[in-house]
Amino acid sequence: MNNERTEISSLGEFGLIEHLTKNIELQNISSVLGVGDDAAIIDHSGKQTVVTTDLLLEGVHFDLSYTPLRHLGYKSVIANLSDIYAMNAVPTQITVSIGISNRFSLESLDEFYEGVYTACEKYGVDLVGGDTTSSQKGFIISVTAIGEVAPDKFVKRSTAQKDDLLCVSGFLGSAYVGLLFLEREKKIFMESPGVQPDLEGEAFVIGKLLKPEARKDIVEFFETQGIVPTSMIDISDGLSSEILHICRQSNLGCVLYEEKIPVAEEMKKAAFKFEIDPTACALSGGEDYELLFTIPQSDYDKLVLHEGISVVGYMTDPEQGARIITKGGGKHPITAQGWNHLSP
Ligand code: ADP
Ligand code: MG
Repeated sequence: MNNERTEISSLGEFGLIEHLTKNIELQNISSVLGVGDDAAIIDHSGKQTVVTTDLLLEGVHFDLSYTPLRHLGYKSVIANLSDIYAMNAVPTQITVSIGISNRFSLESLDEFYEGVYTACEKYGVDLVGGDTTSSQKGFIISVTAIGEVAPDKFVKRSTAQKDDLLCVSGFLGSAYVGLLFLEREKKIFMESPGVQPDLEGEAFVIGKLLKPEARKDIVEFFETQGIVPTSMIDISDGLSSEILHICRQSNLGCVLYEEKIPVAEEMKKAAFKFEIDPTACALSGGEDYELLFTIPQSDYDKLVLHEGISVVGYMTDPEQGARIITKGGGKHPITAQGWNHLSP
């Protein structure tokens, strides 16, 4: 932690923008013109352009009492890149807009941008613009990500087909359990500030919450295997809610097998400490940034080459509804909250 404190007002708005963006070296040929003019210029020469944006408000989307600014910067970018990958596209540029109160020093803003630039470097995207304004209260972040995709290779939520396999990448539910730990320690701290946080052994789930990754590798795997999913969505609100989006928008039902839902051992152990069901965390927890997608059964042989992808169910007629088959063999309708244990 840097103990110096430079007031942002000492630089002025243009000085601040210059300070935050002076080391940018554009990496993509599609980035024709970056920061410094009225607008950036991007040339995806023949490819289609994919755009997504997110607005993040302090106290609503993040809590600075336990979120290091470096991680926040990283995660703000990751969340947007994940949306581009969910279209089966490749992110190439981002813009980052911030609203900052005078509570922020230049040093803390630098930490935030360290995270932003680390994500840019790792995922090969250029920061090409943004906006900087003052905020009365709270930190405001808006990230826009821009990507490219070969014409007709983009993948929507609405085009899953009956009998397709329903698949997910990675492990689910970990970030949610990480959040439970941090919220618990925050509460203890608020009640008795002398107590040091006890997060011993929970690095895995807390890491998943604070430093998520976007599944660039999965989209690259599709490309090398010649797989184009029939539908895809990223898992930001929990598996069940995303499954319902695909079902509704594709006008289909599905069967999901509880025993196939991928959960990490570390997450299971952590969930048991809170006496909560790991499956419920995977279904209703958020911020996993994994990909949920459907493929034709004929692509199964290619898919099994990737050990980080799980087949969790299949698509059915819409009349069947969206159902989960539990480990005990029970059938339940999937709800946005997971599933309703009380339903017949
Ligand atoms: P305008 O008055 O036209 O909005 P600005 O002075 O806000 O222009 O921005 C000047 C340049 O700096 C533009 O290229 C803009 O995209 C870029 N910029 C402003 N704020 C940021 C930021 N926080 N991060 C990256 N680029 C920024
Ligand atoms: Mg501006």
